[in-house]
Amino acid sequence: MTLEVKTKTPVNYITAAVLLILCCVMFFVLKGQFETMSEPELVYYGKNSSVKAIHWLSEWNPRLKETRGGAGDTLVYELRGEEEGDTIIIFGGVHANEPSGSVAAIYMVENLHPKAGTVYILTHTNAAGYTCTDPQEASPMFYTVDTGAGERQFRFGSRVSNPIYQWPDPDIYVHTSGQKLAGSETRNLNRCYPGIEDGTITEQVAYALTEMVKDLDAAVTIDLHEASPEYKTINTTVFHSRANSITSARDWYIPEDLEDAAHMGAEVSPENFRGLSHIELGTWTDTLAMLMETSNPSQGREHGKTGTDLVVNGIDKFYLRNNQSVGIQDKRYGIEVDTGEFVDEDTFVAANDSSAEEMTALGARPLSMRVARHVIATLAYAQSYTDSIGTALEDAAAAATEEDRLAIYEEVGIGKSSLDGSIIAERRTGIIDLGELPSYSDLCANLYKYLAPSDEVETSADVFAGTSSLIK
Ligand SMILES: [Zn+2]
Repeated sequence: MTLEVKTKTPVNYITAAVLLILCCVMFFVLKGQFETMSEPELVYYGKNSSVKAIHWLSEWNPRLKETRGGAGDTLVYELRGEEEGDTIIIFGGVHANEPSGSVAAIYMVENLHPKAGTVYILTHTNAAGYTCTDPQEASPMFYTVDTGAGERQFRFGSRVSNPIYQWPDPDIYVHTSGQKLAGSETRNLNRCYPGIEDGTITEQVAYALTEMVKDLDAAVTIDLHEASPEYKTINTTVFHSRANSITSARDWYIPEDLEDAAHMGAEVSPENFRGLSHIELGTWTDTLAMLMETSNPSQGREHGKTGTDLVVNGIDKFYLRNNQSVGIQDKRYGIEVDTGEFVDEDTFVAANDSSAEEMTALGARPLSMRVARHVIATLAYAQSYTDSIGTALEDAAAAATEEDRLAIYEEVGIGKSSLDGSIIAERRTGIIDLGELPSYSDLCANLYKYLAPSDEVETSADVFAGTSSLIK
């Protein structure tokens, strides 16, 4: 028996060479695409004359300077009102896979004109979450919206910091409180507060944020998030117990026209769940801390393909099917109003925005609606702060005894400092006025117009290049 050995024909070599070249081309194209995620996302702050200064977060933890340009350091925009008032800090983009938080922050940097007080806004709070996407989720790296004056692209990132900056994960992540979580949570910024000065990148960022809140003596801190539609705290504000006077004053923060749709439920921080911004900032600083969640269909477990259509328009056929067959999701999307009636969010938007009508009728939750909710609720909480704290300060001034005065401060969560025992109220004006903004229904319909890009103005890229006129 003879063994025949076939010799390879030249055709195989050509095929191999072609495949090899294709692989190389694909490698470099994908590498280039991946690297664009580390470039600064454009924020057109130059459109807004109220932006008076820009800081790097590393001002509050200099170790982060080394990480500039992708990993940990990020920009903090300072907007000043014309009149004296207290300070509010807004975190957008703590979780980079929750677009409405970051886009709401970007919208406010570009459009907010505070009347009284100072507003500090972070649009990409966990910068290291914006340089990658979550594994096995097939999320898009970017999504675009049509502003009417050109397309604008936004980045879709990961819930946690990119592992290339912090690797490997431990088997178990042990928080400074002793709480134990899964190892990958070590890269989740909203499990790392109050942070560690020389810890992991994520802990260093958390530390810088805590120090910033202390140093700026922020009266209020709002952390903007999204959660999957089946999560029970969607359209809810989770707050540190000291912030109760702001968040529970429901009548104050629902403006009159159609803003019932922007109502946020309120839930106090669970004390035994540690590392989250509201519980830790409320404990380790004097701020009144809260976190808002909107409903993000691209984050849920029931959705299909994670494309731009899902991220921006919130349309997903599986959620739709569940809505129709079970009806439970609709209830979770709905809003209870003071009358006790159950009012569907769709009713409000469909009546005001014919373009959103079709989408909302399908049970979709467009990005514009979720951003509008964050923006209007932020405005309303600032108003609620002025009403509750401002009134309390007046009452305290008229109090008969020192004891009565201190009791009033305690009552509204601005009693003794958790840090040095001084009386927080004595450092407060009781005023935060964020100025006028479009109504909820206007924002739902026209948000992207307000986000139109402009070649004429300074952007975050100028700060990264060191040429900005506002950088501190
Ligand atoms: Zn989140």
